[in-house]
Amino acid sequence: MKILITGGAGFIGSHLIEALLNADHFVICVDNFITGLEENIAPFRKNANFELVTKDISKEVPANEKIDYVLSFASPASPVDYMKHPIETLKAGAFGTYNALELALKHKASFLLASTSEVYGDPEVNPQPETYWGNVNSIGPRSVYDEAKRFAEAVAFAYLRKYSLDVKVVRIFNTYGERMRSVDGRAIPNFIDQALKGDELTVYGDGSQTRSFCYVADMIRGILKLMESEGAGPINIGNPVEMTVLALAKKIKEITKSASSIVFKDLPVNDPKQRRPDITKAKNELAWRPEVDLDEGLKRTIEWFKKNNK
Ligand code: UDP
Repeated sequence: MKILITGGAGFIGSHLIEALLNADHFVICVDNFITGLEENIAPFRKNANFELVTKDISKEVPANEKIDYVLSFASPASPVDYMKHPIETLKAGAFGTYNALELALKHKASFLLASTSEVYGDPEVNPQPETYWGNVNSIGPRSVYDEAKRFAEAVAFAYLRKYSLDVKVVRIFNTYGERMRSVDGRAIPNFIDQALKGDELTVYGDGSQTRSFCYVADMIRGILKLMESEGAGPINIGNPVEMTVLALAKKIKEITKSASSIVFKDLPVNDPKQRRPDITKAKNELAWRPEVDLDEGLKRTIEWFKKNNK
């Protein structure tokens, strides 16, 4: 297939490109490098099945060549990034998704949206099934990401209903692994970077808030299965093993054998208190479940950080 991916130079996007090239697809990567990195896609540049288009999908619709599949992955996704780039994030989720859908419609291509567990906001239901409508503060600092992605889901499903476009929506829960930036700002890259440098590990609040962390290879397998499936979703992909952020910090300190201490900082506004995916639907409809446990995934990620993120 000829597959166009927006946000392909990002963390998950670049892993997805690698898997698609390995499966002999032709991949067009569209990225404006607001948070994506040239080095993430550098290894693909020599591949004859890879093309890079440096454009902002929220402003321009690239590609005249026939496309079979559009993957919409363009957006800042770390809270630190989307709060630093609030307008760009809103535009990426809204105009970027709209432009990518128009492209899919023009080519009669399939369309997959990378949505997020943030559509559930600060959830009052735990774990979160896809049927839960969420608890989002529409004017809070996180709303630039949460509401943009909720709009993205809404517009994707409107195209499905109005034009019978082949649409799929994946709700991506916290994911980690190789190629995360040390300056990413999210918990796992922050703690690993701090632990390896001997800096204090910065736990926000009292660290009792929970998350569930999925290794990137598991995430990619889930997305590929959704691409090939019949259903539109939305479908949760994530690891259902829930833990507190403080326990995560302690685990990373232990695996890295770091002498760093743990310090407590202010909790960001509207930081979700709990998060865990209900993956019943992914198990039943995609025969997918995560295979790499947190200890193994963290070891691999830490090794990568030691080599690449000095
Ligand atoms: N967090 C933390 N210290 C950090 C970065 C994040 O305690 O240096 C917390 C953050 O407040 C949240 C959790 O870790 O409760 C996960 O945050 P992250 O930014 O990784 O992703 P989120 O789930 O908030 O999108």
